[in-house]
Amino acid sequence: MNARGTPLPTGVVNERASGLRLFANSSWHLEVPVNVLLSGAGIAGPVLAYWLHHHGFAPTVVERTPRLRHGTGGHAVDLFGPAVQVVERMGLLPAVQEARTRNDVVVLERPGRRPVEIPVATLAAGFADGGHVEIVRGELARILYEATRDDVAYVFGDAVRTLEEDGDDVQVGFEHGPSRRFDLVIGADGLHSGVRRLVFGPEERFAHHLGGHLAVFTVPDDRGLDGRMVTFSAPDRVVVLYPVRGTGAARAVFLFRHDGPAAHHGDVAGQKALLRNVFAGVGWEVPRLLGELDAADDFYSDAITQIRMDTWTRGRVTLVGDAGYCPAPAVGGGTTVAAVGAYVLADRLAAADGDHHRGFAAYEDAMRDYVAASRRVGPAVLRTSVPRSRLAVARNAWLTRLLPRLPVPVRHRLLAVEDRLRAGLTGIDLDAPTQPRGELSDG
Ligand SMILES: Cc1cc2nc3c(=O)[nH]c(=O)nc-3n(C[C@H](O)[C@H](O)[C@H](O)COP(=O)(O)OP(=O)(O)OC[C@H]3O[C@@H](n4cnc5c(N)ncnc54)[C@H](O)[C@@H]3O)c2cc1C
Repeated sequence: MNARGTPLPTGVVNERASGLRLFANSSWHLEVPVNVLLSGAGIAGPVLAYWLHHHGFAPTVVERTPRLRHGTGGHAVDLFGPAVQVVERMGLLPAVQEARTRNDVVVLERPGRRPVEIPVATLAAGFADGGHVEIVRGELARILYEATRDDVAYVFGDAVRTLEEDGDDVQVGFEHGPSRRFDLVIGADGLHSGVRRLVFGPEERFAHHLGGHLAVFTVPDDRGLDGRMVTFSAPDRVVVLYPVRGTGAARAVFLFRHDGPAAHHGDVAGQKALLRNVFAGVGWEVPRLLGELDAADDFYSDAITQIRMDTWTRGRVTLVGDAGYCPAPAVGGGTTVAAVGAYVLADRLAAADGDHHRGFAAYEDAMRDYVAASRRVGPAVLRTSVPRSRLAVARNAWLTRLLPRLPVPVRHRLLAVEDRLRAGLTGIDLDAPTQPRGELSDG
């Protein structure tokens, strides 16, 4: 019996073109593969597609953008402990290490004072014990895509428009392509997930704004930053500037609190106006950076938001990564949680032989505590990294200068977010991957 509930006749010939492949299960019967549609080719989508293929499922990924925004594009993201383990098990750790940002020193700049420099390793000591790699999101997306493109059907420039479950499968309507039937559908389409909206309702029901905003865009690296990540703080406002290796460019990240009305995430003009308004008069390099705003073609801005849902599953549809449990962009470690969630989902579906009732339930059980703990990361990081007052700005600088001279246990205690980070991002043990189901023939 397969996920469709259909016992299959033995002797079905493996036929890649017809989507049929030959698998041996424990009783050596033949099964049609479970056809799984994944919406979104960000981080969770390709990781999930890799592991689903590994376990003998037939994944198709539909991505809204016409082509992958890869290369050196996007912001720098972190892979911590278990997510490093996931890419290692995919055989991708050397490629990921090779592409890491190499921004190894943080420099805190203060007008009229000497800058404070600290190695990233000192700041990350402890919660990065199980491994830590910082990598530009586009590079990670490229590596994941290239590792899966030969085994996974990718459809770019399309999106799910309708979903109708009728017991045995899901009828999926697309914005452009003809509608198709899939056994399972998985929303890996990020913070503003379309699958979540179609199946669970409007985003407002699940989105919890943490009180911060972020904006990121590319600027010329006029200062020759060379591996240094420069930060500047004023009350409720922080700017981080880091170089993007091999491009001559740098990324400017703005984090801020703002009590008034915020622009919608699709309203780019409104977001730029808000950014200019909030950072007016801040000084430092801000006027130069904001002067580059209109020239940048990769401006991204959003409210720092968590997605909180009691369940990510309805029938044959579930969610993974930011779509189901975004712990907050820029401050929450979402890349780590997305990679881990994707690995666990594929693992549990495989352990349940593709039975989505058991597989999705086991996935939620395995992820529930981890997701709950990850929600404590964003507010803590936001609180410490965007100081609220002049006093807090000065205290952060003092602490940063002091840190390298302190013994590691004292350092850990001083870094108030440390425990939350450790518990939130590394607090899950991943089962070893099972061997691929015995694939007898590949056509
Ligand atoms: C500015 C910024 C800074 C960040 N910094 C960090 C950091 O330092 N550390 C960290 O760990 N994380 C960070 N993150 C978060 C991280 O990028 C995400 O948490 C992570 O990428 C989640 O992966 P995902 O695959 O779930 O979603 P995403 O990476 O958002 O991928 C979703 C994909 O789905 C596609 N899509 C969207 N809608 C549809 C649709 N309707 N149909 C089809 N496809 C669709 C999108 O185009 C995208 O390719 C940051 C995020 C931002 C925005």
